[in-house]
Amino acid sequence: MKRAPQSDQPGIRARYRIGRGDFALDADLDVPGQGVTAIFGPSGCGKTTLLRAIAGLENCRDGELRVGADTWQDQKYCLAPHRRPIGYVFQEASLFPHLTVRGNLDYASKRRRDKARRIAFDDVVDLLGIGDLLTRRPANLSGGERQRVAIARALLSAPHLLLMDEPLAALDRDAKAAILPFLERLHDELAIPMLYVSHDADEVARLADHLVLMAGGRITASGPTAELLTRLDLPLARGDHAEALVNATIAVHDADDQLTEARFSGGSLWVPLNALPVGQPVRLRILARDVSLTLTPQTGTSILNHFPVTITELAKQSPSQLLARLDADGTPLLARLTRRSARLLALAPGSRVHAQVKSVALLA
Ligand code: ADP
Ligand code: MG
Repeated sequence: MKRAPQSDQPGIRARYRIGRGDFALDADLDVPGQGVTAIFGPSGCGKTTLLRAIAGLENCRDGELRVGADTWQDQKYCLAPHRRPIGYVFQEASLFPHLTVRGNLDYASKRRRDKARRIAFDDVVDLLGIGDLLTRRPANLSGGERQRVAIARALLSAPHLLLMDEPLAALDRDAKAAILPFLERLHDELAIPMLYVSHDADEVARLADHLVLMAGGRITASGPTAELLTRLDLPLARGDHAEALVNATIAVHDADDQLTEARFSGGSLWVPLNALPVGQPVRLRILARDVSLTLTPQTGTSILNHFPVTITELAKQSPSQLLARLDADGTPLLARLTRRSARLLALAPGSRVHAQVKSVALLA
């Protein structure tokens, strides 16, 4: 799997102050110029307004936008919306109903803003698995198929930036599950930076390298996804589904026991056997409630996955529960435990303990 190249190229920098009745957007966005940045926050917090401003669709005299080395907007200059090299995918695909899928795609390809850049038609069709749909009209596509075509159309416009505004929100569970692998491939195989608006934590965990949290028109936190998911001062770690992401590499397949070993900074994790090649980078998810702590390494336990960690922080979760942030040699993890256990084991920031992990999910 090819990962988008990590480099020091300048990122995406947007600054917008937009007032609209009771609502004010006051956003200062500074994110990497590669990979997927998820913009996450409750309904009404200004995610769509921010994306529209970046697309040039809001009247914002006080805006600034730099994408890589290019200035799209500052105090003196404003690139018109139709000249911005962006691909924009909305919750509901807006395909031309009178054109076939191929017609819709050709239209986008011909109208691309950056004529020097080109993404091969066949590659995009392959990437999104829409080869069988080319002669159909939008009315004869399912919701998930329409969204895949809309994403293909956005790519064929050869954008410098992809804006996705809750592209899966209108789909049912099954359609969502079917389209996520295509989005994961997009993430792995394309070098186009993506701003991906979502209020689904699962999508964020699967897709985002970088995470921006919004609330009330403001950006409240911004950083690598694995980092923000485990920050005890942020709401993500407080929920019932609090989780950590682990970047690992496929190491060993054990066909006898039907298990695969994935290695990460803190040791190794066994997951159900899969067919991924050895050496392939993967993302694993570990829920806070599936991690328990012991003072010494356990023998005689049925739990396969355990490794040493350092407690870096403890926070109150409820009257009886604490949340611990752990460091597994550079990978942050979460564990939920009772206050009583913490007292009996004398756990405190700095304690060296062992984490036992009851369940690990392979995301991609
Ligand atoms: P989100 O995408 O995070 O749900 P939006 O950016 O759509 O939020 O909306 C931000 C705020 O602006 C909300 O309070 C919403 O009610 C308001 N709003 C959105 N669109 C309009 C509009 N066309 N006219 C007036 N207010 C709007
Ligand atoms: Mg919205």
